[in-house]
Amino acid sequence: MIYDAVIIGDGPAGISAALYTIRANMKTLVFGLGDSVLKKASKVENYYGFAEPVSGEKLLSEGEAQLKRLGGVILREEVIGIEKEDVFRVKTVNNTYSAHTVLIATGQKPVSIKIRNLKKFEGKGISYCTTCDGFFYRGKKVGVLGFKDFALHEAEELLKFTNDITIFTNGEKTDFTDKSAAGKFAINEKPISAFEGEEFIERIVFEDGSETPVDGIFVAYGNASSINFALKMGILTKEQSIIANSSQETNIPGLYAAGDCTGVFKQIAVAVGQGAIAGKNMIEYVRALAKKSD
Ligand SMILES: Cc1cc2nc3c(=O)[nH]c(=O)nc-3n(C[C@H](O)[C@H](O)[C@H](O)COP(=O)(O)OP(=O)(O)OC[C@H]3O[C@@H](n4cnc5c(N)ncnc54)[C@H](O)[C@@H]3O)c2cc1C
Repeated sequence: MIYDAVIIGDGPAGISAALYTIRANMKTLVFGLGDSVLKKASKVENYYGFAEPVSGEKLLSEGEAQLKRLGGVILREEVIGIEKEDVFRVKTVNNTYSAHTVLIATGQKPVSIKIRNLKKFEGKGISYCTTCDGFFYRGKKVGVLGFKDFALHEAEELLKFTNDITIFTNGEKTDFTDKSAAGKFAINEKPISAFEGEEFIERIVFEDGSETPVDGIFVAYGNASSINFALKMGILTKEQSIIANSSQETNIPGLYAAGDCTGVFKQIAVAVGQGAIAGKNMIEYVRALAKKSD
C-alpha cells in the first residue's frame, strides 16, 4: 500500500498538516513519540482562541483527539530512516512504509552531548551520517554513539562496511526494541569524558580513566532527528534547520518540512500555520501525480 502522506511528528505542525490531508481524503499516516516540547509549557497565552491560559498538554491532547475524531491514526513508532526511490520509503524499527509525500515535523529538541572534543573532531573521524561517510571506514574500528533504536539502526547500516562496531552509550541505559539485533554488536555503557587524537580522532577516554582506540565515531544520540534525515537525504539545511520554500517543500520534490525543525520563529502558531501550508501542498502534489497517471 502506498500512503498519500506520511507525517513524521505528532506535535502541532504534524497534526495540523494531517488535519488537512485527512479531510481531503488522502491516505495519511502520522508517526509520533508523544514527546512534543510543548508538553513542557504549563501556561500558553499567546495562541489564538483561548481566553484563559491553556497548558501545552491540553493543546496536544485536544489536537490528538481532533485528529482521531476525523479518523486519523498516530503510530507510536520512531522513524529511523527515509529513502527516496520511485516513492518515499519511511523506515521504522519493524516496518517500511511507502508514501507519495512525506512531511518532516519532528521539532527541534536540543540534544546535548557533553563530551570534550566532540566538535573538534567533527569531519575528522566524527560523523553524523552513515550513508555519507560509512564507506570511508571499510574494515575499520568504528563506534556508534547512542542508546536507542536509531543508534542500533546506524550500527546495522555500518555492517556493510565493517564488522568491528561498538555501540557507546555514554552512561545511558540501552533502549533497543530489537534485542536480537543488538546482540550483533559490542555495547560499552561507560560514561565518556573525551575524544582524543592528533589531527583525527584516535581514541575514546572514559570517565573512569580507561581508554579504547577507535577510527571513527558515528553520532546517533537519542531519536532520529530532522538533521539526521537531512544529512542522509541531501536536504538543504541552515544552522541545524531544514530549508523549506513558501510551500514548505524542501529541495526534494514531495518532501516537506514544517514547525520547529525549519528554525522559523519556534511558536505553536507558526508550527500550525506551516503544517497547514505543507498539508495543502501535499494534497496538490498527490493530485498532480494522479492526473499525470490518468
Ligand atoms: C518550555 C516551553 C514553553 C513553550 N511555550 C510556548 C508558548 O507559550 N507559546 C508558543 O507559541 N510556543 C511555545 N513553545 C514552543 C512550542 O512548543 C513549539 O514551537 C511547538 O511545539 C513546535 O511544534 P512542532 O510540531 O514543530 O514540534 P514538537 O512540538 O516538538 O513535536 C515534534 C514531535 O515529533 C515527534 N518525533 C520526533 N522525532 C521523531 C521520529 N524520529 N519518529 C517519530 N516521531 C518523532 C516527537 O515525538 C514530537 O511529539 C514552548 C516551548 C517550550 C520548550
